Amino acid sequence: MQCINCQSKNLGEIAPGHYYCWNCFIEMRKQQEFYHIHEVDLDGSLLPLNDLFSEDERRVQ
Ligand SMILES: [Zn+2]
Repeated sequence: MQCINCQSKNLGEIAPGHYYCWNCFIEMRKQQEFYHIHEVDLDGSLLPLNDLFSEDERRVQ
């Protein structure tokens, strides 16, 4: 498992299938066959980033 955005392996697992990248501060949440990507804003709100990635990049390996 590495970050879809920055390819870092510096990930924390928040919950099963739910990862946080300590390098670029995004969340990846596995949902069926795709990861859902969010950026965590400073106030804790989540900004969806799915549109920045192709389906192939988001597909669970
Ligand atoms: Zn990252």
